[in-house]
Amino acid sequence: MGEKKTVLIVEDEKSIVDIVRFNLEREGYATLTAYDGESGLASARENRPDLILLDVMLPKMIGFDVCRVLREEGDNVPVIILTAREEEADKVLGLEIGADDYITKPFSMRELMARVKANIRRTAMGHVESAAAPAAGGLTIDPENYQVSKHGKPIALTQREYELLVFLAGHPGKVYSRTDLMEQVWNYDYVGDDVRTVDVTVRRLREKIEDDPANPALILTRRGVGYYFAGQ
Ligand code: CA
Repeated sequence: MGEKKTVLIVEDEKSIVDIVRFNLEREGYATLTAYDGESGLASARENRPDLILLDVMLPKMIGFDVCRVLREEGDNVPVIILTAREEEADKVLGLEIGADDYITKPFSMRELMARVKANIRRTAMGHVESAAAPAAGGLTIDPENYQVSKHGKPIALTQREYELLVFLAGHPGKVYSRTDLMEQVWNYDYVGDDVRTVDVTVRRLREKIEDDPANPALILTRRGVGYYFAGQ
C-alpha cells in the first residue's frame, strides 16, 4: 500500500475540522489542519499534501485566493473546494481558478470520503489508459511522469485536466458526451453534479494546450454531442 496519503483540511469551523479529520483518519489518511487561509497556504507549501480540502470563507485569506496562489506557483495538488451554499457562481469560480472539485455544505461524510478518494492522485493512475504517447499539434504526453509538453515546453495541468487530456487523446476521433466524461474521467459514482464541470475543465485545458483556444485544433466539440480529440 505504501505510505499514507496526507489530506490538508483548511477550514475555520473547528467542529467540521474535527469530524472530517476523524473520518479521514479512520479511512487511513494522515491529516493536517489549518484554521485560516494564510496558514493553510503555508502548510500546503511546507508539507506538500496529497489533497487539500479548502473552505471558501476563511479568515486572513479566502480559499479561492489560496488555490489561485498555489496554481500560480505551479502546485497541482488536487483541491476540493468546500462551498457554503449551493452557489453556481462559487462552483464555477472555484473550477476556473484551478480547483479539481467542490462539495457543498452540509455534506455527508460518505460523500466527502468518496470525493477525496476519487480526487487523490493515484500512484498507479490505473483507471486511465496511458497509451497516449506522442499526440498531435506539438503535444507530447508522458504518462510515466504525468508530464505534458507543447513544442517541448512543459505545461502545468491539474490532475483532472491531465486525466481528461489523457483519456480523450487515448481515443482519438471518438466523441464522448459530457455525461460519458463525468463517468469515465471524473469516475466513481459522481453524485449529483452538473456537467458544467466538464465544460469548464475543457475550456481550461484548451487555454493551456491549444495554439488558439478559441479555435481549438486538438480537443474538438461535436455540437450537441460532446468532445473528442482530433486525429485519425
Ligand atoms: Ca468558513
